[in-house]
Amino acid sequence: MKLRVVVLGAGFGGLELSSILSEERGDELELILIDKNDTFFFGYSKLDVMFGRKTADSVLLSYRDFVKPGVTFRQETVTSIDPEARRVITDGGIYEADVLVIALGADYDFSATPGLIEGENEFYSFAGAERLGELLSTFTNGHVLIGMTSAPIKCPPAPSEAALLLHDYLTERGVRADCQISLVMPFSIPIPPSLGASKALLKVFKERGITLMSNQGVTALDPERRVAILRDQSEITYDLFLGVPKHRAPDVVIASGMTYDGYIHVSPDDLTSEYPGVYAIGDVTYVGAPKAGMFAEGAAKTAAAHIIAQAEGYESSEIYRGDGICYVEFGGDQVARVEVDFLSDPSSGTFVEPTLGTAREKEHFGASRSARWFGA
Ligand SMILES: Cc1cc2nc3c(=O)[nH]c(=O)nc-3n(C[C@H](O)[C@H](O)[C@H](O)COP(=O)(O)OP(=O)(O)OC[C@H]3O[C@@H](n4cnc5c(N)ncnc54)[C@H](O)[C@@H]3O)c2cc1C
Repeated sequence: MKLRVVVLGAGFGGLELSSILSEERGDELELILIDKNDTFFFGYSKLDVMFGRKTADSVLLSYRDFVKPGVTFRQETVTSIDPEARRVITDGGIYEADVLVIALGADYDFSATPGLIEGENEFYSFAGAERLGELLSTFTNGHVLIGMTSAPIKCPPAPSEAALLLHDYLTERGVRADCQISLVMPFSIPIPPSLGASKALLKVFKERGITLMSNQGVTALDPERRVAILRDQSEITYDLFLGVPKHRAPDVVIASGMTYDGYIHVSPDDLTSEYPGVYAIGDVTYVGAPKAGMFAEGAAKTAAAHIIAQAEGYESSEIYRGDGICYVEFGGDQVARVEVDFLSDPSSGTFVEPTLGTAREKEHFGASRSARWFGA
């Protein structure tokens, strides 16, 4: 009998898990992959679009091209999840699963930060990155404030990368001397799991005149006065605000009753939830690893191994290690690498200095996923 798998979310985690199950069990698989969008994009593409390094059209990959034996893609919005019955309702139908995988990522809670508006003054949504890219293209002088509201966030190095890429962007346009760049973050150092990476970032922030306010967070904006209010009630004026909203699991996941403290807690061994036959992977979970693509992909590999073992009647010894690589843009077309094994030692991050070679490695990372998933 065919294994009926329903995968919610075709991001990093959902795409990789569906690919593995298709490769391993394509003939004996009935997998429905559901996503509300018709295209996928890499998280870091938002920085490329905001700083005019790539056009929006060029970074979008169509789910039409995700063609795998045993897999059917449906562009639908998930409106209800019943984890006990493994039943999902979307705006297009009802799905019953033998195995349900929740890979819906992290969403944003704009209401948590008064004045922060989706698609207007934040760069964590695609529309927001596009909009800020338009505003930046005519920005010639004043204070740009990059502001985190809270943690955890997707890709913790991204706000630091934004500051360094902004420095290059304004320099190339000949207006850097007329602009100030500040970065507000709740962390004590830019990348808490790696002291080496943090020291290197602090050094280049100083060299490039970027002001860092650590152990802080933006709690509200007053757009009329162009003022950001920080946790300690102090105020900073800005001319352009590049915000990072508060993150949480999507509403439909919270409504399913599966979350604690905003996310689904899963067993780090096999990514199972407390409901039999229900797995959760990637940014929608709390599993002790960061919210980043490679970690979602690692979780997908482990969950897939257990789903296949279950279907074939044996026990998998695969354990999720929470290890992976974060590439960090340092500006000047150079990229550094941080390697971390979160579950065994979260402060063990090893740092590889920024080089052009690692920039090529990051490009290959994206190109290899595009080819594997979309044949692009
Ligand atoms: C600015 C920025 C830079 C980043 N840079 C990097 C980087 O350099 N390296 C890196 O590894 N990671 C980076 N990331 C993080 C990375 O994008 C995420 O961690 C990764 O995509 C998580 O994968 P996921 O599968 O858990 O969720 P996602 O990839 O977010 O996928 C979730 C999917 O669920 C869908 N969905 C949500 N709700 C519904 C619903 N109700 N119905 C149907 N579908 C729904 C969404 O459309 C989405 O396609 C960055 C993120 C940002 C914002």
